[in-house]
Amino acid sequence: MHCDIPEDFPHLNADPLRVRQILLNLVDNATKFSLPGGAVTVSGSLGTRGEMIIKVIDKGIGIRPEDIPKILEPFAQVQDVMSRAHEGIGLGLPLAKSLVEIMDGRLLIESEPGKGTTVTLVFPKARVGPRGNMDPSAPN
Ligand code: ADP
Repeated sequence: MHCDIPEDFPHLNADPLRVRQILLNLVDNATKFSLPGGAVTVSGSLGTRGEMIIKVIDKGIGIRPEDIPKILEPFAQVQDVMSRAHEGIGLGLPLAKSLVEIMDGRLLIESEPGKGTTVTLVFPKARVGPRGNMDPSAPN
């Protein structure tokens, strides 16, 4: 698993418990639907309009384009061998999407069967705090 987030990445003004829940769900899916030896990357960057972009990227089994709208609906699971092999009730993504939207963000899924999946979260600039420094003893 790789983490590609700049050291001075700004803070996000959002509910930390919910953000953690969303990221855990996305990383859980990325890991579940990866093949042995696969890699999962979490990246953070700022867009040209100052928006915060967080991506969870896997190189796993992917999702068929026609299935993407379905898995954003509550209780949907794409019925393939891998999904059946993994427990789940199909609520993670719809819940993550709703929570992101409550926090003024957007959740986007890009995927290609056999190549992998990228889930992108975008939060508007209004939600982005000053450049972060997690060391409280460091000068501002
Ligand atoms: P569940 O609790 O069943 O994992 P989710 O809403 O998180 O519920 O996911 C629904 C379905 O979407 C999964 O069962 C799987 O078919 C598909 N899916 C989600 N994330 C991925 C991913 N990263 N790669 C491939 N398929 C995925």
